[in-house]
Amino acid sequence: MINFDYVRARDVADAVREISVEPAAKFIAGGTNLIDLMKYDVERPMRLIDITRLPLNNVEETANGGLRIGALVPNSDLAYHTLIEQRYPLLSSAILAGASQQLRNMASTGGNLMQRTRCFYFCDVATPCNKRDPGSGCSAINGINRINAILGTSEACIATHPSDMCVALAALEAKVHVAGPVGERAIAFSDFHRLPGDTPQMDTNLNANEIITAIELPAQGFATNYSYLKIRDRLSFAFALVSVAAALELDGGRIKDARLALGGVAHKPWRDPEAEAALGSQPADSNAFAKAAEVLLRGAKGFAHNTFKIDLARRAIVRTLAQAANGTPQIQSSKKIR
Ligand SMILES: Cc1cc2nc3c(=O)[nH]c(=O)nc-3n(C[C@H](O)[C@H](O)[C@H](O)COP(=O)(O)OP(=O)(O)OC[C@H]3O[C@@H](n4cnc5c(N)ncnc54)[C@H](O)[C@@H]3O)c2cc1C
Ligand code: SF4
Repeated sequence: MINFDYVRARDVADAVREISVEPAAKFIAGGTNLIDLMKYDVERPMRLIDITRLPLNNVEETANGGLRIGALVPNSDLAYHTLIEQRYPLLSSAILAGASQQLRNMASTGGNLMQRTRCFYFCDVATPCNKRDPGSGCSAINGINRINAILGTSEACIATHPSDMCVALAALEAKVHVAGPVGERAIAFSDFHRLPGDTPQMDTNLNANEIITAIELPAQGFATNYSYLKIRDRLSFAFALVSVAAALELDGGRIKDARLALGGVAHKPWRDPEAEAALGSQPADSNAFAKAAEVLLRGAKGFAHNTFKIDLARRAIVRTLAQAANGTPQIQSSKKIR
C-alpha cells in the first residue's frame, strides 16, 4: 500500500493553493485515468486534491457568440448538451466515439485533456520509458509500436495523445482557460499539448501549479459540414489508431474555410495550416481532399509495426472530408443511454 493524503478543494483559489504547496500532489476529477495509473504504480501522488465540488460544471454562452465549458462538465453531459449538439456536433461526435457510456459519465472535460498516453510501455513499470522515468530510454522505438506515433516523434518518445475530444477541440480552435498563483490565462488549444522533443515527461504547457477551469469555443461551429471518423481495433472501448476531425464551410461546391485535425498519430492532435490552406477555394472533391491529406502527412514516418498508419490516415482523411462535404449524418449509437 502506498500512502497518500486526500483533501477536498473548497474553491479554485484553494485548489491552486493546495497544488502549489506540494509538488507531488495531483488533482483528481473523475479519476478514470489517474486511479488506473496509481494502481499500475505509474503515478505516485503524495496528495490527491479532489476538485469535484468546484463550481466548474456549467456550459455558458459567451459575449462573442461562443460557449464556455466548465472543466468539470462530464463528457456525456457535454456530448448531449443541446447547444453542443446543435452548434458543435463535431465535438459531440468525437466525445461519443471515446471510451464507454459509463466512463463518459465519470470523465471530466479537464481530465480528458490531461489524460496520459496509452503507450504499452508507459503503463508497464518493468520497462524503460522516458515519459515515466526520464532518461531511462524508450522501449517503444524498437518494441511493439503498432499504436504509436508517425508524426512529430523524437528519439526520446513516439507516444500518441489518446483523446478523441481533443481532436475536435483542436479543429474548432478552442481555448483552454487556466488559473494559477499569479492569476488566470488562456492557452490556444494548439499550444496546450506538446510534442515530445527531449522532454517527453511533459505532456502539456500547463504549469504544475495551475488548474484548468474552462474550455472556450469560438462562435464558428461548422454545424452543417463536419465529420469525426475514428478507426480502431474494436468498435467500442478502444483508442484510435487513426482519427480525423474535418469541418468545412462551403459556398456552393467550393470550400470557403476548412479545419482538419488528426488523432492517434502524434503526441498532440495534429493540425497543419498548410493542409487547410490547400483546401481553401478548391472544389470540394476527391482531388482537393487527396492533396490536403498529402500535405498533412508530409514528414510522416513509420516504425516497425505502425507504417500502415500512414496509408490508413491518408484514406481516412479523404473519407472524412468527403463525409463532411456531403453532410453525412453521424452515427451516435449510444445516444441518451445512461
Ligand atoms: C477503459 C478506458 C477507455 C477509454 N477510452 C477512451 C477513448 O476511446 N477516447 C478518449 O478520448 N478517452 C478514453 N478514455 C479516457 C477517458 O476519457 C479519460 O480517462 C478521462 O477523460 C479523464 O477524465 P477524468 O475526469 O476521469 O480525469 P482524472 O483521472 O481525474 O484525471 C486525469 C488527469 O487530469 C488531471 N486533471 C483533472 N482535471 C484537471 C483540471 N481541471 N486541471 C488540471 N488537471 C486536471 C489529473 O490531475 C490527472 O493527472 C478511456 C479511459 C478508460 C479507462
Ligand atoms: S514512446 Fe514514450 S511513452 Fe512509450 S515507451 Fe517510449 S518514451 Fe515511453
